[in-house]
Amino acid sequence: MDSCFRRNDREVEGNVIDPHGGALVNRVLDSREAEKIKRSKLPRLKASDDIILDVEKIAIGAYSPLTDFMCRQDLSSVVDRMKLADGTPWTIPIFLPVGRETARSLPARGNIIISDDKGRDIALMEVKEIYSFPRRKWAEKVYGTQSTRHPGVKRLFDTHDRLVGGDIWMIDKPGFAFEKFNLTPAQTRRVIKKRAWKTVAGFQTRNAPHRAHEYLQKTALCITDGILVHPIIGWKKHGDFRPELVIKAYKTLISKYFPGDSVIFAGLATAMRYAGPREAVFHAIIRKNYGCTHFIVGRDHAGVGDFYDKYEAHRIFDLFPDIGVVPLLMRGPYYCSRCGEVVSDRVCPHAEKWHKHISGTMVRKSLSEGRELPGYIMRKEVFEVLKKAGKQGFI
Ligand SMILES: [Zn+2]
Repeated sequence: MDSCFRRNDREVEGNVIDPHGGALVNRVLDSREAEKIKRSKLPRLKASDDIILDVEKIAIGAYSPLTDFMCRQDLSSVVDRMKLADGTPWTIPIFLPVGRETARSLPARGNIIISDDKGRDIALMEVKEIYSFPRRKWAEKVYGTQSTRHPGVKRLFDTHDRLVGGDIWMIDKPGFAFEKFNLTPAQTRRVIKKRAWKTVAGFQTRNAPHRAHEYLQKTALCITDGILVHPIIGWKKHGDFRPELVIKAYKTLISKYFPGDSVIFAGLATAMRYAGPREAVFHAIIRKNYGCTHFIVGRDHAGVGDFYDKYEAHRIFDLFPDIGVVPLLMRGPYYCSRCGEVVSDRVCPHAEKWHKHISGTMVRKSLSEGRELPGYIMRKEVFEVLKKAGKQGFI
């Protein structure tokens, strides 16, 4: 990438972009306060792993300016207007569902403790409201469909229908399997500051990297000082790659094919919602909180099946001129045998018959059929990592 325009040799002070809403939320209590709360007899609410992931994201500021699981006013505003009640752009509901019986056992207002499925106390929550919300309307607005073939919709319909809203303070870090990669926004911001990057592109993925991903990342790196490669390692659907394999595959690619000082590699432990365009905006906001000035949006970002048009996730950004992070709207790269390289229709003039599509589905198919993949689809070293993992590599 020597020929690319790089700007990381500047001396920059305070070079990191402001978080969404202006300030990075920090709702992590110190150990003395935490111990006191843990000894209290407050009611406990046992939460699933995905909820615990959201608790942690709120507490460490990944969801800044959110400090809470949404109350009705914010949730309804997000569903209807793609904004928090105060007007800040926000596209995905962050909510805590409970069963009716549990809802009845909780105080309508007041403090409770959220614990994980092993009974470990994770957070103090100040309950402000327990309410219900029409889920069909929610599905239609957020996912654009009520079809239960959509994994996000199915999940929404399968979950409890009472929602608990209120502020969060984390008292203990959840023990994630991939803790080492789960950097906080404060940590990535420190690295960005230290490296004096003025511009950073965020890259979202849930897959092991193929050549189209690499093309997008390197195209971004030609105009930004650095890149945050930030794969999602929370809940994913059946058939997706396991997080440990995505991590291993990326480490292999970065160590062999990227200038080391231009990449921050970290996992983002949160659930995929598969909400397509709305999730693209959500992903961009999260990466802004991690210090990104730019965010790469590819073809069918966070989509699933044929629920969204290929570039719907590009067009939605027209509605958010004030989001504060620059979306890098990139057309789907492919291999062109006339060009002899991975390109996109922005730079390749050749007819479709010369194009070879590159996708994760193709990679998974080759793996399951024991076939080799050409190097223009996936780097050999990366494919070797996946091959070695075999069937264990999938969820
Ligand atoms: Zn071409």
